[in-house]
Amino acid sequence: MDSALTGMSLRGWVTALGDLILPRHCVVCGRRLTLAERHLCLPCRSDIPYTHFWERTHNPMADKYNDRIREQVPDGVEEAYGYAAALFYYNSESGYKNIPQALKYRAALSLGREFADQLGARLAEAEAFSDVDLVVPVPLHWRRRRGRGYNQAAVIAERVAACLGVPCCRTVLRRLRYTPSQTSVGMERKASNVWGAFRVESRVEARHILLIDDTFTTGSTLAACHASLRQAYPPSVRISVATLSYVGP
Ligand SMILES: [Zn+2]
Repeated sequence: MDSALTGMSLRGWVTALGDLILPRHCVVCGRRLTLAERHLCLPCRSDIPYTHFWERTHNPMADKYNDRIREQVPDGVEEAYGYAAALFYYNSESGYKNIPQALKYRAALSLGREFADQLGARLAEAEAFSDVDLVVPVPLHWRRRRGRGYNQAAVIAERVAACLGVPCCRTVLRRLRYTPSQTSVGMERKASNVWGAFRVESRVEARHILLIDDTFTTGSTLAACHASLRQAYPPSVRISVATLSYVGP
């Protein structure tokens, strides 16, 4: 008998049998997975383009996010600098874009949770995020959530909150407008579409809020959420952001 098959657990046998009937493939490159691999093949897993943004309070994502915020803050108001981190880079040519897309459009929840745990573990060790006391997912409009069956940002937020040992509250923000999906509108239009689309529904006491979304592109969605939160929280409450992926190199 093949040495890989001896001493295999019942779960291993079930996976092996499942692979015969319906082979599993790497979400990044599409190569068929071996028994020991899960979601990603070994080469793709060892090549994940991590951003390491969590190690630096000033990074390209934080700069973009804070620039967006400053566009809205009235002169003379002292606004707490928002920290920002994404787990890995994402671009249109990279197979790693399939990770957030599979979570968003193909209900790949266990894949999403695995990467959310990776993000959460890094944030839990980062100085900048050590005093986060509330995690808030970017909400979906109820029509989209009903259509999709879940909110991908909430899937990530729950795991990140568990890693940080703080509550995740889905009812803080509410999405008021049903906006076209990002893929069907240009970046400029997206920014204007999303502005004013959120409202604070139930205020939960916090000193450092962490907003969670699946992907950071222009930062307009997160800046719109920030603006809504700011109406309910004083400028001393820091509002930081974290996502699975960041559109970049
Ligand atoms: Zn692969």
